[in-house]
Amino acid sequence: MTHRFATRAVRAGLNADPGHNAVVAPISVSACYRRQDPGQPGAFDYARTQQPSRALLESALAELEGAAGATVTASGMAAIDLILNDLPPHARVVCAHDCYGGTRRLFDARAAQQRIALTYADTTDPDTLQAALREGADLLFVETPSNPRLRLTDIEQAARLGHDAGAIVAVDNTVLTPALQRPLSLGADISVSSVTKMLNGHSDMVGGVVACSDADRHTRLAWWANAAGLGASAFDSFLATRGLRTLPLRARAQCETALELASRLAAHPTIVRIDYPFLKGHPGRGIAAAQQSGGGPLLSLEVSGGTAQAIELVKSLQLFTLAQSLGGVESLVCIPATMTHAAMSAEARAEAGIADGLVRLSVGIEDVEDLWEDLQAGLEIR
Ligand SMILES: *Cc1c(COP(=O)(O)O)cnc(C)c1O
Repeated sequence: MTHRFATRAVRAGLNADPGHNAVVAPISVSACYRRQDPGQPGAFDYARTQQPSRALLESALAELEGAAGATVTASGMAAIDLILNDLPPHARVVCAHDCYGGTRRLFDARAAQQRIALTYADTTDPDTLQAALREGADLLFVETPSNPRLRLTDIEQAARLGHDAGAIVAVDNTVLTPALQRPLSLGADISVSSVTKMLNGHSDMVGGVVACSDADRHTRLAWWANAAGLGASAFDSFLATRGLRTLPLRARAQCETALELASRLAAHPTIVRIDYPFLKGHPGRGIAAAQQSGGGPLLSLEVSGGTAQAIELVKSLQLFTLAQSLGGVESLVCIPATMTHAAMSAEARAEAGIADGLVRLSVGIEDVEDLWEDLQAGLEIR
């Protein structure tokens, strides 16, 4: 019997301890595993290659993403770089121009080494995307919703265009997680995420995951993860597995609060623009309704007083910690231009619609009225 998402998030890998019948599997810290026979490795051999805590998280994430297999890495960036290992020399990569700043830094550096030939494109616009893919591509890399502007790419359409151009299609699913969006079921070949953010949800570890629809691609990427030594530690894998248990509950609460705050902020006199996928008037609302089951934890806004007022606002907030991450149970605020997206050039930021005074909120699970009072007080300062 196939169970529903929340049931699977709680029960994946439970009762899997043969040694002591522990309901929750122990953290396996051993670096090596005893063999019965020198020519015959057991299920585990050496922890860089694989070990029980990481394997448990990988099978849980593969199940939740609807993947043939998943590889859990030491960071989200390691997961994204891992994908490049499976590409031919000088691979042609088409990437969303408003992707995560760290992705852009990595891809730019790989392009400077001539490891890849890189084109940035507005993947939210099918004509622009098709033009960027015209000469063929090996990898199309999409991020939806994009961060911080929360622009939406139609995954099904992008996957079709990417495949027509000969590319494999990867979607950065960090912001929504499989609780809210499943790229593989929409035609993508790879769903890649930072586990650090919403998946773990408690801001107490760093990790990443690559989930593949194709078993052979998964096997090749797992080979590279072992060869290059990219796998996550036992303790981080344990923490993320524990975080996963409450993912559906957290996602529901965070989406509800984020939508409520976005609606109230939209009516506030000092807000000149606000982005949230399910908000009335959001340009991607139709795509959101078709491929997402919630808007996610992120919203971004611009205030009428520009950068100076934005800085006053983020400094005055008490319940939104000024820090650059997202998706945790605690609410965070950041100014992308000087924090998460500082590695981008000013021109690239302008092209991606990231104004200097743009404020990004990551909404946690605190009481919505407390968060609202905090924002209201912050917006009164001029
Ligand atoms: C944080 C983030 C990453 C990178 O993940 P790390 O775990 O920080 O290496 C990639 N993509 C998105 C959308 C992110 O928010």
